[in-house]
Amino acid sequence: MIQNANIKSSFDLKLIRDQFPILHQEVNGKDLVYFDNAATTQKPKRVIEALNKYYEVDNANIHRGAHALADRSTRYFEHTRASICQFINSPSEDQIIFTKGTTDGINLVAATFGRANIKKGDSIIISHMEHHSNIVPWQMLCEATGATLKVIKVTASGELDMNSFDELLDKSVKLVSIVHASNALGTINPVEEIIQKAHQIGAKVLLDGAQSASHLLVDVHALDCDFYVCSAHKLYGPTGVGFLYGKRELLEEMPPYQGGGEMIKEVDFAGTTYNTIPFKFEAGTPNIGDVIAFNEAIQFINELGKDAIMSHENELLAYATEGMESIPGVRLIGTAAKKVSVLSFLIEGMHPFDVGMMLDARGIAVRTGHHCTQPLMKLFNIEGTVRASFAVYNTKNEIDTLLEGVAKLAKMKQSV
Ligand code: PLP
Repeated sequence: MIQNANIKSSFDLKLIRDQFPILHQEVNGKDLVYFDNAATTQKPKRVIEALNKYYEVDNANIHRGAHALADRSTRYFEHTRASICQFINSPSEDQIIFTKGTTDGINLVAATFGRANIKKGDSIIISHMEHHSNIVPWQMLCEATGATLKVIKVTASGELDMNSFDELLDKSVKLVSIVHASNALGTINPVEEIIQKAHQIGAKVLLDGAQSASHLLVDVHALDCDFYVCSAHKLYGPTGVGFLYGKRELLEEMPPYQGGGEMIKEVDFAGTTYNTIPFKFEAGTPNIGDVIAFNEAIQFINELGKDAIMSHENELLAYATEGMESIPGVRLIGTAAKKVSVLSFLIEGMHPFDVGMMLDARGIAVRTGHHCTQPLMKLFNIEGTVRASFAVYNTKNEIDTLLEGVAKLAKMKQSV
């Protein structure tokens, strides 16, 4: 059952699509159908224009500048921090650290919180459905410290086996790092329960929000997570920018990540003192223009409203799921009760890459392969999947085009 499947889209899709120049093109002689949104979303004009404006009008390095351009750039840069704070209901702006993205945020926590708090005999819990960026940094930390990495099992429908979580949770666990919504399966994980149980034994919880921030209402305060990481490019913003949210007491205690300009209070050869948060974790000149443009992406989402976006995407997912289920020879991978708009599937007897190529010939962009979740693919005993993932600008007509293409390929394969 897909939640909210009957709620009708309440906004004007044509107006939304008009804001995305890239969507209005032909690929291989067909209208582009862009269903690779879990890899990266397209950008509305206002994001592209904000980036151009920054370089045409405002470009200057931020903080400490005495001149007008530096002042403007600093203010716009900090506006984005304030918008993110509101967007995820962080208690304060200084708990938002700019990063290069989700991967960078997880590595930051592993290198700082991890190095300072996790030692031999301790353990870290992740799950079998994690993206490589929420596996490898913890493996590296465990190698360096002698800590143990424990993995929550995943069921055949692509949900976390919560009994397995309960069994893994003991006093040795210092951190649970878990994906909020899976990029390969779409599963929305029961993070409230995970956070509550982890806190009962004194462990901290990091949420990988790469796939949740654009699809779900995220309230870090209500969730009570200790860390939340995300990438701007997954929510209609630019690449190379993301953020880490952390609880104040943790961020203040954590040692800095990288050394350099901006992260210091005073430098002396006798010793250096560090800046307060968030600057302690923002060494060097950041990606100023893209951070500024990211604000436009957040405003785009805010103006449409997360509820409206969610009901539109749920409707698309329900429609596409039903359509796929009716095609003989198609197998869905990931059939959890609660999903974001990600639909992974296989056509019997066909390699996912070949399916992707043949759909591309019809102008349909899907992702094929392991989706940076190789352990999960091994669990399902498959090499990879074909993944169609939907965003706010997608339409039922586009899904019809996908279903028609998939049905033709499945039929062709069956008649061989
Ligand atoms: N985690 C999940 C669930 C993702 O989907 C992705 C990207 O696909 C990442 C982490 C890594 O994000 P980025 O490459 O933007 O750092």
